[in-house]
Amino acid sequence: MITYLLQFIAPDDCIQCGSEGLLLCEWCRLSLETVPSRCFYCQKVTNDYDICDKCKNKSSIRKLYVANEYKNEPKELVAALKFKSKRQASIPISRIMAEQLPYLDKETVLVNLPTAPKRVRQRGFDHTKLIAKAIAKQKGVKYINALSKTDNKRQVGATRKQRLNQTVNSYRVTVPRKVAGKNVIIIDDVVTTGASIDSAVKILKKAGVKQVYAAVFAYTK
Ligand SMILES: [Zn+2]
Ligand SMILES: [Zn+2]
Repeated sequence: MITYLLQFIAPDDCIQCGSEGLLLCEWCRLSLETVPSRCFYCQKVTNDYDICDKCKNKSSIRKLYVANEYKNEPKELVAALKFKSKRQASIPISRIMAEQLPYLDKETVLVNLPTAPKRVRQRGFDHTKLIAKAIAKQKGVKYINALSKTDNKRQVGATRKQRLNQTVNSYRVTVPRKVAGKNVIIIDDVVTTGASIDSAVKILKKAGVKQVYAAVFAYTK
């Protein structure tokens, strides 16, 4: 508890300029160059981070907001949050993501792509939940803890296809009634192929969600 409180009281040094105060000072945060609006799959310029028409058959994702490339300061912030358990790294991360998102109406709710329970226990918190909650607060919308990640148990003797299905179906909608008929934005920290987000989009759609988009802090190929 004390170490938890100290994290918030003890000032950090800015990872970019070294000034005392925040993990990423206001000045350095504003000078970060964010990724322009484009299709996540082919990098073609699109409107408001839409997936382009050509790439729409690749997944169920229709819009994917990507704030940064996973390198330099963004990478350091994610590392601080995930590997050094520095909760305060969620402050600049959530602010950058909130600033990138458009105005969100009251029909929109945020959910996080949950972390494996084992990792949450090691870290002491679910980092994507922390980010999603902070963005929701800044955008004046609700955060709903709607997804859970099932621990992947390898089935002995499962075929390759069965194993692939097991990974795809590793998320579950825990409170379908709370998300049905809403517009949902899935929040995640780092995206690579987009496969996890894609599977979450699919199960949310099945649960009766009207529209599902996603927003991530950084992408890496
Ligand atoms: Zn700075
Ligand atoms: Zn495309």
